[in-house]
Amino acid sequence: MRKHDVVIVGAGLAGLRAALELAGKVDVAVVSKVYPSRSHSGAAQGGVAAAMANESDDSPELHMYDTVKGSDYLGDQDAIEIMTHDAPITITEMEHLGCVFSRDAEGRIAQREFGGHSKPRACYAADRTGHAMLHTLYEQSFKYKKDITFYNEWYLLDLIYQDGSARGIVAMDMKTGDIEVIHAKAVLFGTGGYGRAYKITSNAFANTGDGIMAAYRAGLPLEDMEFVQFHPTGLYQQGILMSEAARGEGGYLLNGNMERFMERYAKSRMELAPRDIVSRAEQSEINEGRGAGPNKDYIYIDLRHLGREKILEKLPQIRQLAIDFLGVDCIDNPIPIQPTAHYSMGGIPASKDCEVYSDEKGTIVKGFYAAGECSCISVHGANRLGTNSLLDATVFGRRAGKSILNYLVGAKHEPVNEAEEKRKARKRIDDLLYTPSTESANNIRNELKEAMTTNVGVYRDKERLAAAHKKLKELQQRFTKVRVEDKGKVFNTEIIEALELANMLAYSELIIAGAEARTESRGAHARVDYPTRDDVNWMKHTMVSAGADGAIQLKYKPVVVTKHQPEERKY
Ligand SMILES: Cc1cc2nc3c(=O)[nH]c(=O)nc-3n(C[C@H](O)[C@H](O)[C@H](O)COP(=O)(O)OP(=O)(O)OC[C@H]3O[C@@H](n4cnc5c(N)ncnc54)[C@H](O)[C@@H]3O)c2cc1C
Repeated sequence: MRKHDVVIVGAGLAGLRAALELAGKVDVAVVSKVYPSRSHSGAAQGGVAAAMANESDDSPELHMYDTVKGSDYLGDQDAIEIMTHDAPITITEMEHLGCVFSRDAEGRIAQREFGGHSKPRACYAADRTGHAMLHTLYEQSFKYKKDITFYNEWYLLDLIYQDGSARGIVAMDMKTGDIEVIHAKAVLFGTGGYGRAYKITSNAFANTGDGIMAAYRAGLPLEDMEFVQFHPTGLYQQGILMSEAARGEGGYLLNGNMERFMERYAKSRMELAPRDIVSRAEQSEINEGRGAGPNKDYIYIDLRHLGREKILEKLPQIRQLAIDFLGVDCIDNPIPIQPTAHYSMGGIPASKDCEVYSDEKGTIVKGFYAAGECSCISVHGANRLGTNSLLDATVFGRRAGKSILNYLVGAKHEPVNEAEEKRKARKRIDDLLYTPSTESANNIRNELKEAMTTNVGVYRDKERLAAAHKKLKELQQRFTKVRVEDKGKVFNTEIIEALELANMLAYSELIIAGAEARTESRGAHARVDYPTRDDVNWMKHTMVSAGADGAIQLKYKPVVVTKHQPEERKY
């Protein structure tokens, strides 16, 4: 059995930042199903928020207020305050580690406008910010070759959780197919988001919610799963992201009549209103027959007026993506776009110090931590502001590292039954390899994605959610008859994809269950049949868990309000 002080699952910004905090002090393992530099953090484009005081009247307090308002008052204000106050120091540290941020004329880290932020506070590296940050952290980790053991292309199967404490993980070495236990005093999940359940999504193939579902299967709750963010500018029919930086730099949104329709929805902020509002505006234009194209089913983002030079300097990546995937060069033509599933506000409930909660009362699991997109701390509430997520992952990755160091004083390896853990994991895989086969995993995956995009998207209502729920039950049933045809051991991606699909089928039902129960509209959760926010009944976090019989149980916990009382959100 492999043994380390700490095992971190995830080599994105959250996981790597935590690993750097721990390196040189304790023995750390980092497990990642993709090679670290392929983690989805590397795809982040637009920027990372911090009140760096370039604009003399910006401040962490204002950043906090914008974030609370952006969250539609569902964000926990104590945690948001920590994030916005830690932001400038965390970004300065990133710079000192070697991250090549773009510069302004005075040589300071340049900052651009972003939706819902009242000041230009998005620090960026052209439109490849996540790439610059992720590679910086990964490079730095090489300094600690002796202290950090990387298990690259290892797939997390299960969390070992017993009697209130996390004791390690079960994982598959994808290169050999071997199942192994990694025994640890503390476990950190930085396993990223769950946007792959949607047909139109900006998310990488790896974002299948494996970490959150490993926690759920172990008996732990998940928080606010119904809040899935739809980004307003995904490439038409592809979902690939056209960064919000395009609007931050001055891009317009146009409907089929070539009209800047945002005027009707957010007069003062226009295209730079928060994402939930812009996505709904686009969807309303399409639903009301003002979309573009032969089927009137998309919107344009128009960058032509920015000019060739600015596009090539500030937005080179998105220009290339639109050329490669749609054959449209934004220097000369507007780009067809539509809302795309983008970010998971929900996840593993955790404290400001990233300690995971086992219930709605705030009981802490010993030795289990979560940070980044898989966690729900909850700094984004019902709607995340752009650039607050690279920040969240970096700030809370750093905090998780510090928190784990404190915990390790006096902590020991709790006993683990290695044979039994391996047997359980093996059985799950053998069931996939050897069941009598009638069903194709690909068909089930396609039908799931279609159902989620059609019925659990930007706008929701009772009928559509019920239809999606019924479909989910059917798909889960059919999944029991899926057989993996490839029986090989070396890089058996068919097994991995089947395990990921099982996770997607399970968490999609949790998204729907939370959404059906929440009879209000708040942030990214917009119900046509309950169009207003209901603070009396619904200013609370959803906690979903599996009851004794496996049935979904919904409980709730209050939102932490410190400085800002809920108000109507106007932009
Ligand atoms: C296209 C795109 C653009 C974005 N742009 C921005 C932006 O400009 N600004 C911003 O603030 N946010 C942006 N975001 C959001 C932001 O990038 C992410 O929320 C953030 O990077 C998540 O970091 P993370 O460390 O939590 O997870 P990730 O970077 O997603 O990493 C997850 C890690 O978990 C590992 N993992 C997952 N499952 C398993 C398993 N079963 N076994 C082993 N390992 C596993 C993966 O291998 C990976 O290493 C963007 C997101 C997308 C999709």
